[in-house]
Amino acid sequence: AIVEQVDSPEDLKPRAPIVTVMGHVDHGKTSLLDYIRKENVIAGESGGITQHIGAYAVTLDNDQKISFLDTPGHEAFTAMRARGAQVTDIAIIVIAADDAIMPQTKEAISHAQAAGVPIVFAINKVDKPTANPEKIKDGLAQMNLLVEDWGGKIQSQDISAKTGAGVKELLEKVLLEAELLELTANPSRLASGTVVEAFLDKGRGYVSTVLVQTGTLKIGDYVLAGTCSGKIKAMQDERGNLVKEVGPSRPISILGLDGAPQAGDKFNVFEDEREAKQIATKRSQLQREQSVRTQRH
Ligand code: GDP
Repeated sequence: AIVEQVDSPEDLKPRAPIVTVMGHVDHGKTSLLDYIRKENVIAGESGGITQHIGAYAVTLDNDQKISFLDTPGHEAFTAMRARGAQVTDIAIIVIAADDAIMPQTKEAISHAQAAGVPIVFAINKVDKPTANPEKIKDGLAQMNLLVEDWGGKIQSQDISAKTGAGVKELLEKVLLEAELLELTANPSRLASGTVVEAFLDKGRGYVSTVLVQTGTLKIGDYVLAGTCSGKIKAMQDERGNLVKEVGPSRPISILGLDGAPQAGDKFNVFEDEREAKQIATKRSQLQREQSVRTQRH
């Protein structure tokens, strides 16, 4: 069985925040994630992220880390929440300064609020002559969301995902917000976390990207993820490096599962390979029975 282990306070160590980027279509979510992934907001490792693995971590000048879910939009966020997965610590909500507060912006705001996740606004496209960031902040104020420049408590940053202006400052504000959350996890236990994406690779077999949320994941660990299980044969980070172990808040691609779990599935490490396998089998059986039942009705 999956035992929920209680961590003693002295085992809890600070961990990096996990961030999701949301916002209305075309407001610049993908551009922002790409900019952060490719550019040198990252200390000494500009352009270092070569793999698109569904999540990535960056290190800032001050050596602090931020992990990003690299699946823009709140579909991923809500899909994960629907499966009971709460992985996001902070939401960046991108709003184009040459547009207005749109329906999907409002949806993203209410999703973050419903999940109790703090928001940092990224007022994007300020390089455009038609950009009017103050109009956006006014719009937010009318929704009772007062940003700091307007005397409120919510962080916001004018940015251009195209030129990179303000992106560094945005990430600093994310870290400030993270500090208030005092995020911790116990790295010295068997790992658990959430599946971000999984697929079948022709050469390598099933590849699953997971976010480690607690504990340390190691090569050779027996993993149960949704209806899949297996022993970890190899792990690769977003820079294509093979790694032997990864701690909390880190995204990692793993090889060795006997299938592709679904995004939002939880994963757990087991001492006993057979037990992981048994639960996986039982779960697939249940799933099959359920689908037969829904087909009948
Ligand atoms: P998404 O749908 O929110 O992921 O938006 P995208 O990142 O795909 O951006 C939509 C369009 O806006 C693309 O054509 C981008 O090149 C453009 N865009 C994104 N950010 C900026 C920006 O800061 N400045 C300008 N001028 N264009 C941008």
